[in-house]
Amino acid sequence: MYLSKLRIFGFKSFANRVEVNFPAEGVTSVVGPNGCGKSNIIDAIRWVLGEQRPRALRSSKMEDVIFSGTADRPALGMAEVSLIVNNDNGVLLSDYAQVMITRRNYRDGESEYLINNQPCRLKDIHNLFYDTGMGAASYSLIEAKMIDTILSDKAEERRVMFEEAAGISKYKQQRKETLRQLEHTAQDLARVEDNLRHVQQNVNLFERQAKKAEKWRELKLACRSLELSVQHDAYRDLAAGLEPLSFEHAKDENRAAELDARRALEEASIEQEKLGLFEEERQVSDLGKRTTEAQGEAIRLEGEAE
Ligand code: ATP
Repeated sequence: MYLSKLRIFGFKSFANRVEVNFPAEGVTSVVGPNGCGKSNIIDAIRWVLGEQRPRALRSSKMEDVIFSGTADRPALGMAEVSLIVNNDNGVLLSDYAQVMITRRNYRDGESEYLINNQPCRLKDIHNLFYDTGMGAASYSLIEAKMIDTILSDKAEERRVMFEEAAGISKYKQQRKETLRQLEHTAQDLARVEDNLRHVQQNVNLFERQAKKAEKWRELKLACRSLELSVQHDAYRDLAAGLEPLSFEHAKDENRAAELDARRALEEASIEQEKLGLFEEERQVSDLGKRTTEAQGEAIRLEGEAE
């Protein structure tokens, strides 16, 4: 496996599209004056391999890797680097003979990773290069500072390089991930236990409420039956008191009917007497008339006699 090509656009000092070819034979050297951008090529390789630490790219924040403009060129909104690797011998876990990995970063913080133009995760890029000796943090990209690291007596830093070279980083990473997943699972479990405890508390509460509701139902039924029995007794007492009263009432009604009949008879006899009185008055009036006529006749006869 070896590097075949590096394409850079908008990354650090590379405002124009640049393609760096690495021929299969020999050694490629980049030569130029100080500050012309030689190290930016190494940064570009480190970046496209998934480097996440701005400091490892000699920047203070990730956005600084995007071309920031010069006196005569405006800044760009995106940095893009593609690295093409020959995979004829199949060292990379890919079916392709040439693998192209691409990384893009936009000023708004959006970023993209692609393997052979197919969008992928950063993790897929890491997995692709695990234990191949290549990778953002591997021994294959060595800058002056890293040589100091190898020579330094900081055992931990040296160990990372040896582990990568020995090909166990992949397993260490897998172990780290498994441990992280285990921790997540333990947290999930703790959450589930919490929920269970909470549910159990609710169940206890509902059981107590259900018992109370049952007791209330029983008491309500007992209360209703007592009410019915009290009302039944009251009704019986009232019915017993009502019997003599209805008897008296019936008697009173009979008496009233008798009195009504008597009154009707008396009213009829009064009417009869009134009629007799009218007849007598009419006769008296007739007699008065006849008396007047007789007196007139007498006066007339007396006149004739005279
Ligand atoms: P030296 O030989 O001193 O190490 P070098 O040739 O390796 O230098 P680099 O350090 O790779 O050069 O590049 C530095 C140049 O890159 C500087 O001129 C700097 O202004 C430019 N540069 C870095 N980041 C950006 C950026 N985001 N936009 C534009 N130019 C940038």
